[in-house]
Amino acid sequence: MTDRKAELAANLAQVEERIVSACAAVGRKREEVTLIVVTKTYPASDVRILHQLGVRHVAENRDQDAAPKAATCADLSLTWHFVGQLQTNKVRSVTSYADVVQSVDRAKLVTALSAAAVRGERELGCLIQVALDAESGERGERGGVAPDRVEELAAAVDEAPGLRLDGLMTVAPLAGEYAGRQRAAFDRLMEISSRLRAGHPAANMVSAGMSGDLEDAVAAGATHVRVGTAVLGVRPRLG
Ligand SMILES: *Cc1c(COP(=O)(O)O)cnc(C)c1O
Repeated sequence: MTDRKAELAANLAQVEERIVSACAAVGRKREEVTLIVVTKTYPASDVRILHQLGVRHVAENRDQDAAPKAATCADLSLTWHFVGQLQTNKVRSVTSYADVVQSVDRAKLVTALSAAAVRGERELGCLIQVALDAESGERGERGGVAPDRVEELAAAVDEAPGLRLDGLMTVAPLAGEYAGRQRAAFDRLMEISSRLRAGHPAANMVSAGMSGDLEDAVAAGATHVRVGTAVLGVRPRLG
């Protein structure tokens, strides 16, 4: 094993142990939670090692970095998640490699994603990103729609050709009433998810929790956790 492979294997084992304990603590089955490794800022060689170590879901947040990385790793059976704020001029590129876009937060983006998915003859999974720091009708500081806009946007995704409504995503907010209260934030996301699922039963993905707060997300009921730093190390630059 190379040093890097040994390092990633050890980190993955630690994260796995955290997920197992978090599930056990609330009586959930380990299989209910999918680990997505956020590989942003790290090279394609790391993605390849992660695949060798059994990782099947990876996430990226910038198209400029993700597109060449995904192309280099096209031979690997991986599900690529896009989790960053997405401009409509990047949609065609993102749609060429992403299986799921987790950061859908406005109607214009839905229209663009749908057009690109249809043109590429692909079905694209979509999560509505919920901003728990946004006031009614607004968008959040780090992307996302206010909770009272989720249903409207979900309906738009549901009706859009080429798109599949998979569920919800959030990033624990740095501001507002949920700042520093991860568990409360994720409980709130689960409430919004329950309401969504009443009308869209298949939209049952709940993506929440990162390196620092995955236990809170698992306890609240998240189906997907997005972990970067705890697997790959502290990122060399902001991303
Ligand atoms: C970077 C990122 C993560 C992973 O964060 P870590 O703290 O490194 O685990 C998760 N979700 C999103 C949207 C991100 O941008």
